[in-house]
Amino acid sequence: MLKGKTALVTGASRGIGKAIALKLAAEGANVVINYGQNREEAAKTAAEIEALGVRALIVQADVSSFVQAKELVDRAKQEFNTLDILVNNAGITRDGLLMRMSEQDFDQVIEVNLKGIFNVTRQVVPLMVKQRSGRIINITSVVGLLGNPGQTNYAASKAGIIGFTKALAKEIGSRGITVNAVAPGFIETAMTAALPEKTVEAIKENITLKKLGKPQNVADAVYFLASDLGEYITGQVLSVDGGMAY
Ligand code: NAD
Repeated sequence: MLKGKTALVTGASRGIGKAIALKLAAEGANVVINYGQNREEAAKTAAEIEALGVRALIVQADVSSFVQAKELVDRAKQEFNTLDILVNNAGITRDGLLMRMSEQDFDQVIEVNLKGIFNVTRQVVPLMVKQRSGRIINITSVVGLLGNPGQTNYAASKAGIIGFTKALAKEIGSRGITVNAVAPGFIETAMTAALPEKTVEAIKENITLKKLGKPQNVADAVYFLASDLGEYITGQVLSVDGGMAY
């Protein structure tokens, strides 16, 4: 149970982030829903969360901006005073073979996926240190562990998240804060819906359980790490990938 706790989930208007926000809310947490662009989808998520009997706050912010990340966390502090759980979920892809990849496509993916985690976490950690408690969960990817052709930018950003997670876990463990990563495999969301049917069939062949995962599967793992169940776990990467990376 997360009754009375406050969680901030970045990129929570849809997909995996939305499922995480809903799961934490269903377990009793108030949720700050950060979104990048789509206010309508964010408002829908907020309504679903409030229907669960907890509070929801929607905050538009581009996590790749240090200034906007500060405004996001300030707004959350203003509203709830505390922040117990941070889930860094916002992420993008700009796929392409390295030989053809533009500098912009490389930079954008690093800026959102990796620098975005720095920007938000940098604002949240002083709060958690003061509280002497907190849970930080960073969403990485199986691609950060195994690599994937056409995703050098994405794989680098996601592998970077793993290093960031392990280093920060060591820095702030003594303050009662755990820092972990969750590494989804192929999950049924807008990100994977864009893939051609043939590619999806080929992907399934490489999954031990022979099927794609659901956003709920990732949300359950995040809840585990965010709740008392995960109190003695830090610096870890928990794969939720149907058996791809092991
Ligand atoms: P999605 O595209 O459906 O959702 C991504 C969310 O991030 C959206 O709400 C979007 O608005 C938000 N976002 C993007 N850029 C942002 C920015 N600059 N500032 C704030 N918010 C921003 O994707 P998803 O599939 O739900 O992915 C969520 C996370 O899970 C990502 O980090 C992704 O890399 C990771 N992941 C997804 C899969 C998968 O199979 N879908 C697999 C492994 C990892």
